Amino acid sequence: MREVIERIIDVFRGLGNELRRTGWFVDGPESTRWWGGAESPDEVVITAILVQQTRWEVVGEVLGRLRVLDLNKIERIAETSPEALADIIKGVNYRFTKAVRLVKLARNIVSVGGLEGLRSMSNVRDFLLNQDGVGEETADSIMLFALNIPSLPISQYTKRVFSRVLGIDLGNGYSSWKGFLEEVLPRDLYIYKLVHASVVTIGKQYCLPQKPLCNQCPLRGVCKYAVR
Ligand code: SF4
Repeated sequence: MREVIERIIDVFRGLGNELRRTGWFVDGPESTRWWGGAESPDEVVITAILVQQTRWEVVGEVLGRLRVLDLNKIERIAETSPEALADIIKGVNYRFTKAVRLVKLARNIVSVGGLEGLRSMSNVRDFLLNQDGVGEETADSIMLFALNIPSLPISQYTKRVFSRVLGIDLGNGYSSWKGFLEEVLPRDLYIYKLVHASVVTIGKQYCLPQKPLCNQCPLRGVCKYAVR
């Protein structure tokens, strides 16, 4: 297994520009720029909520407006009313619900000492999972890309790509995939960020649910599904 995982990571290391096309920026292990070019941990948290069921292009435009208004900061969001925020994030799906959730999340983060305070908590993941609108994938994305805590997000793409490449069936459960992948992958911020960005990219572009485009896929040389 270790050798296959190393080969997969090697393929991911070579994706570079391909990741950029789908909104991921390869950078240093502690950089927030991986997450759609986010310039701060605050921007990762804010966009992690806004991007749910919304295209990245739309979120990018909204983030631009938030930057101009200096609302790309958790402390500033916490001081804003949900009504005012809903107006500013026009274009994002479910903006009224998200505005309420984002303001509440921001206030809860401020109450524990901001993102630094959150990072130093012993139960960061539980704290995040207790927030409205924060599921497991969002919680792990915030931990990895905003707080630099190595916690691997599991998306539908992660399950599809790894089940086909490795020829394994772990079902659809989040924790079974998370447990397995965190066991076999090196516990490393750079690798976790690279793996998440790569599986989302490959899952969107090649590893389609029906008729995957194996002939064009960068993983074809190592994928069990492709050589069946
Ligand atoms: S080679 Fe085919 S099945 Fe394997 S990851 Fe790529 S697209 Fe998916």
